[in-house]
Amino acid sequence: MNPEVLLSRIRVVLCRPSHPGNIGAAARAMKTMGLSRLYLVEPKQFPDPEADTRATGAIDVLAAAQVVPTLKDALAGTSFAVALSARQRDIGPLLGAPRETVARLIGEAGEGEVALVFGNETMGLSNEEILHCQAAVTIPTNPQFSSLNLGSAVQVLCYECRMAAFAERPPIASPLTTPFTSPPATNDEVEGFYAHLEQVMTDTGFFNPAQPGRLLPKLRRLFGRARLERDEINILRGILASTQEKTSHGRKA
Ligand code: SAH
Repeated sequence: MNPEVLLSRIRVVLCRPSHPGNIGAAARAMKTMGLSRLYLVEPKQFPDPEADTRATGAIDVLAAAQVVPTLKDALAGTSFAVALSARQRDIGPLLGAPRETVARLIGEAGEGEVALVFGNETMGLSNEEILHCQAAVTIPTNPQFSSLNLGSAVQVLCYECRMAAFAERPPIASPLTTPFTSPPATNDEVEGFYAHLEQVMTDTGFFNPAQPGRLLPKLRRLFGRARLERDEINILRGILASTQEKTSHGRKA
């Protein structure tokens, strides 16, 4: 199924968010990853200028956000919901890893609507909220400091959703400038350069063909690593030619 359609079927549900700034940050996180369906369960303050500020270009996601009284309302019409929790609860599904669980979520999105459910900034999700979900995920973190900012947690999960929907190969924004490259040099171009370099090094006395040592193989290894392009060969040979010109002028004078 079309990855954009899969992403459009994922609801991001924020349960009782306290800070409007985090709602804006969540909207921005969603839009950067191609998600658009934001649900707010009993937000403390919304709409709010702080939410708009933090959303920057994702005002459309905020404007379309659904404000609902309970999680049950936010999940109406969905067939699979994943709870996000920083710690294992004694109740509710076992905590899984984001990648595996998101793979499952994307699979379910092929059939219908699905949801990612995030908790309040201080309390996290309530047991009752977790029990509305069929799976739970924790983002692996430093065990001594495991709680991400709400907007950051939304970003991590939305990124995983995008990667999964596009089978790990999402398109990237097209570069504004043409890449600064030329075609790779062919073998004979590279060999021509080595011969030219050897000639100049011999002329200057840097290289003594009678006692070659390991200089030439080392230089081959160096330029081999660089994967020379045609333009680069032309530059290097231009430098060599200018050295030859200078030294022959020098000799003439
Ligand atoms: N103090 C709360 C954390 C609140 S952070 C607690 O201990 O539960 C706000 C929300 O961000 C959480 O409810 C959860 O949905 C999400 N979140 C933050 N860190 C997370 C993590 N490491 N793994 C999964 N979700 C996380």
